[in-house]
Amino acid sequence: MQKGASPDTQKGLPGVTQAALFGLCPACGARTVFAAPARVADSCASCALDFSELEGGGRFVGLLTMVIALALIGIAWWIDSTFRPSLVLQMIIWAPLTVGVVIGSLRLFKIVNLYARYERSVEGSDES
Ligand SMILES: [Zn+2]
Repeated sequence: MQKGASPDTQKGLPGVTQAALFGLCPACGARTVFAAPARVADSCASCALDFSELEGGGRFVGLLTMVIALALIGIAWWIDSTFRPSLVLQMIIWAPLTVGVVIGSLRLFKIVNLYARYERSVEGSDES
């Protein structure tokens, strides 16, 4: 168990892509944000930051999933009509790809949202 970071690591938030990939806590940088592949934990197990308060935007998540699904269907349809791959090949490609893209996008969306809210809450009451 190595701890290179000092307890006072407010400067330099990790990159959003990296944060989405590993689910890094915006406050302490621990990999604690995601309890499941695309589900945000209630709070940080390391620094007890309340994620449930920062999450929000649940309605957009459903909308986002639908937009992604429609985009994937569109791409699948285009590939089908352009390249005409076999059905088996399509299933092998699309099943994991769909899951991966949806989970990846949800993670990215939730992290961006969480970080934005966290930064706002750190900066003070900027709510208007
Ligand atoms: Zn934390």
